[in-house]
Amino acid sequence: MQLYNNQTLKVYNSLSGKKEIFEPINDSHIGMYVCGPTVYSNVHLGNCRTFMSFDMIFRYFRHLGYKVRYVRNITDAGHLENDADEGEDKIAKKAKLEQIEPMEVVQRYTVDFHNTLQKFNFLPPSIEPTATGHIIEQIEIIKEILEKGFAYETNGSVYFNVLKFSESNEYGKLSGRKLEDMITNTRELTAQSEKQNPQDFALWKKAEPQHIMRWPSPWGDGFPGWHLECTAMSTKYLGETFDIHGGGMDLKFPHHECEIAQAEASTGKSPVKYWMHANMLTLNGKKMSKSTGNNIYPSEIFSGDNEILSKAYTPSVVRFFMMQAHYTSILDLSDDALLASEKGYNRLMDAMGTLEKVDTDKTSSFDVDAWKQKCYDAMNDDFNTPILIANLFDAVKHINLIKERKENISQEDKNLLNNTLKTFVYDVLGLENQAIIKDDSNTLGGVMDLLIELRNQARANKDFATSDQIRDKLTDLGIQLKDGKDGTTFSIN
Ligand code: AMP
Ligand code: ZN
Repeated sequence: MQLYNNQTLKVYNSLSGKKEIFEPINDSHIGMYVCGPTVYSNVHLGNCRTFMSFDMIFRYFRHLGYKVRYVRNITDAGHLENDADEGEDKIAKKAKLEQIEPMEVVQRYTVDFHNTLQKFNFLPPSIEPTATGHIIEQIEIIKEILEKGFAYETNGSVYFNVLKFSESNEYGKLSGRKLEDMITNTRELTAQSEKQNPQDFALWKKAEPQHIMRWPSPWGDGFPGWHLECTAMSTKYLGETFDIHGGGMDLKFPHHECEIAQAEASTGKSPVKYWMHANMLTLNGKKMSKSTGNNIYPSEIFSGDNEILSKAYTPSVVRFFMMQAHYTSILDLSDDALLASEKGYNRLMDAMGTLEKVDTDKTSSFDVDAWKQKCYDAMNDDFNTPILIANLFDAVKHINLIKERKENISQEDKNLLNNTLKTFVYDVLGLENQAIIKDDSNTLGGVMDLLIELRNQARANKDFATSDQIRDKLTDLGIQLKDGKDGTTFSIN
């Protein structure tokens, strides 16, 4: 397939540790698998960042004209508490805690996940398969691995034999870990352990009588190991070798390393051409994480209801903030950073509005073609959105000069600039024009000022029934009020 101006696209492949020229296995088609959420709690903003990075990548591929089959799974079984093979299933644990069915937990948090992603203007993946919907496929892969001699059964559980696999394959090649180091650095097995070696990992775990999520198998009632679902679903929908496998950096080991081992053991083939890993969103310099509580939820950002925030932010501002960092860089969330992003986002939206209105000339003082090429160059260099955004701001500067009549633009170039800006801003970065929300000179802004004023008067008169009614009705309409030091602000979800 030919890209714009015959350019090539480069992708950083975590497997080789290099930027490589992207050449899909089947010319204009791309198969992309991204590990989805474990749906036992609401997604935090860190989770959203990883999925947003791949949403942007999906969008850019589509813009270039590729036919992408994008598979992003839902983990609804098999993910144990400590990411290894011990502890309770995260979903079963939550179900017990809340005294509901595990599938009620799954449903609740899958709905939250979808609602959140919709607010951020994500494109839906082509297929969104679940682990529980692919138990049969997982059992088939285990049988295959057992048959090839890379796994063993102990007491109703099946474990992958890492040492045996390493005799003919390189376990650790993705994460850069050496098996010898793993052996010296891991704890000895406890006497009751069923594993032959601590590095081995579960393909199937026997369900103890109290375990609620269980399925029959040739080895008795049990449930699949966490890594197996992704091997089963990616192979089923994308084939034994496909183009891109993505996920957060923290999934490289053990999850993705184990996926490679399972696939190579069962098919004898390397499953993925390009492994891509998105970097972490941090808060106070530490990884956002469900388990440590060091996180912030999208709903808190949209309402401004969190002590670190001075105000509410719209989904597009948050998206813009994320896109200002390269997907492989760590990004730290703070109120100051969001304020700066909001300013930048507003400047960009204002300039796009201004461009529609500027007068044109016979000639242009600004080389729009060269500028457009630079936008593509940025994206073709491993999806470099911060450089793309720097180029967008270069256009903003020119638009403002044209408005002041210090520069000029032809009708043809104005159309080109307008279309290219819209393509990159809306189609590729996935931003939406939510400028209406901050513009208090518009009608909505005026109406909101009036309602906030009436609510303040009601509160001053201790008429809390009315003040609550105003806030609640607005909430029903998707408008959040946030009372801050400098008065009340609002945001629309
Ligand atoms: P989980 O639901 O825990 O399986 O995580 C879903 C996705 O979110 C995985 O791809 C993780 O790598 C990713 N993730 C978890 N924490 C963060 C974070 N702080 N920043 C970016 N991505 C994250
Ligand atoms: Zn996975």
